[in-house]
Amino acid sequence: MKKQILGIDAPEKECTDKKCPFHGQVNVKKELFTGKVTKKDIHHSATIEWFRPYYVQKYERYELRRSRIRVHNPACINAEVGQEVLVAKTKPLSKTKHYVIIQMRESGSKEEIKAPAAPKTRKQK
Ligand SMILES: [Zn+2]
Repeated sequence: MKKQILGIDAPEKECTDKKCPFHGQVNVKKELFTGKVTKKDIHHSATIEWFRPYYVQKYERYELRRSRIRVHNPACINAEVGQEVLVAKTKPLSKTKHYVIIQMRESGSKEEIKAPAAPKTRKQK
């Protein structure tokens, strides 16, 4: 059993999941994302999503683009829908899963990512 992964402490619960980064066999790579769990499925799977601002040059404004990935949800973490989680890249765990949840984030702050104001490139007439 590993006590820490990338400086993150192992959860208090233990599990027998082979694909758990703390109690199983998989190693994680230092490629991290944070997102919100939008779907939770059987076989320890979940879907997370997050939004990022994307600059549209034609309109000089930002639009929100959405990224979604399928992740592994180990039994010792067991994230629920709506929770903010930290995921790390692993070797392919199944056909669609290449990431695993390694930490639950405090979901106290309900701060949504807002598109920043467009930079003033043109003078107003
Ligand atoms: Zn575990």
